[in-house]
Amino acid sequence: MTMLSTASIATMEQTHSAGTTANLIGNTTSRILPSGIAAGGWRDDWVAHSAVWGPLPAAGDHGDLVASIRAIELTGRGGGHFPTAVKLQAAIASGPGGSVVINAAEGEPASGKDSVLWQYRPHLVLDGAVVVAQAMGAREIVVWLSADAVATRVSIEQAIAERAPAGVAEPVIRLLLAPESYVSGESSAVIAGVRGFPVAPTFVIDPARPWGEGPAILVHNTETMARIGALSHTGADNYPATNVITVARPIVSGREYERAVLEVPGPSTIADALGLAGVGQAHAILLGGFAGSWHGIEEASDLPLDHQLLRQRGLSLGAGIIIALPESIDVFQEATAIADFLADSSAGQCGPCVFGMPALVKSLKRQRVSEVLDLADVIEGRGGCRMPDGAIRMIRSAIAYDRRRSTSARAFRREKAHGEGEF
Ligand code: SF4
Repeated sequence: MTMLSTASIATMEQTHSAGTTANLIGNTTSRILPSGIAAGGWRDDWVAHSAVWGPLPAAGDHGDLVASIRAIELTGRGGGHFPTAVKLQAAIASGPGGSVVINAAEGEPASGKDSVLWQYRPHLVLDGAVVVAQAMGAREIVVWLSADAVATRVSIEQAIAERAPAGVAEPVIRLLLAPESYVSGESSAVIAGVRGFPVAPTFVIDPARPWGEGPAILVHNTETMARIGALSHTGADNYPATNVITVARPIVSGREYERAVLEVPGPSTIADALGLAGVGQAHAILLGGFAGSWHGIEEASDLPLDHQLLRQRGLSLGAGIIIALPESIDVFQEATAIADFLADSSAGQCGPCVFGMPALVKSLKRQRVSEVLDLADVIEGRGGCRMPDGAIRMIRSAIAYDRRRSTSARAFRREKAHGEGEF
């Protein structure tokens, strides 16, 4: 494995704790996060960006963008992992005049990679949006950002201002501030917000074209867009097939996390990332963030840190988040706090979510497991968006983890009693 090349404190938003940015990639230019990050923070301005990546290929020189994206098997890095090429193809088929939206609303408090990308590589993200906009003939690029993300907003505004004198031919780029909420980053809620409607998830029939009829409002997560930006410069053969992840440790369970953002090469494992993130001893992890799955550290250490390889095992890195639990925090306690946060984030539209989620949290707090499982059966699949289903997946996984642990503890006690009997 290549060695840690750089580390520094990122200027993450003050609503979350400051984090560390590390890069596991060797000293090549093809990476998503920059190397040589000096202590105190380092940001690629337009000049530095152009020196590393070269000029953006002129419109029409992008080759077949859909084919290139398909070749690298890129999926949505916001957590949904829908094939990016399928969405782009549908957007092109919808005709010119649409909007390209970069989703920078990182509603999950354990996530930090999108803020870091905007603060270190803003032009790589914007390059991705520009080539997508050119491919589909879009009239504008919209950056959808949480209203409380002050440091990220400064970097984005600076980047937009830096590109103008460079004379880059690209559609107008505008910044749109989203309400501070977990569901503000849900793509149907983003589309509603861009259209000027209340920001809340809506029912989507076709995930390839969630905007419905007419010119597309194509929403991609920040990392997805940075990856398309990198691809447009390197081509599929030299594309940096790395993974950018956030490793988080609770400060206030379910609400506030200390975070480290890492870029790791394909062969890395969970143990590599935990070690380099410097999160200390962990007894369990939540793989994939708030909608993810719980694993004991001994089960998870050797798992590959790779979206495709994890999918083959029925697991997901979600939005690239690993929450590491110290001994002082129990899995059930953390799962309850996360469910509580998610219940508070409801957009207040669907009965199973509005009434079911608080009831679920109440049962979790009383540790009435069979009641929790009954409620989960009632709520699952009945929300207007995937938020409740993600919460239920995480809760069921916490219960399953607890049962695995109890079984092995009982087996250990039996073994011990048997062993003691023999002496
Ligand atoms: S499931 Fe909850 S968060 Fe999702 S749309 Fe319905 S009320 Fe809103």
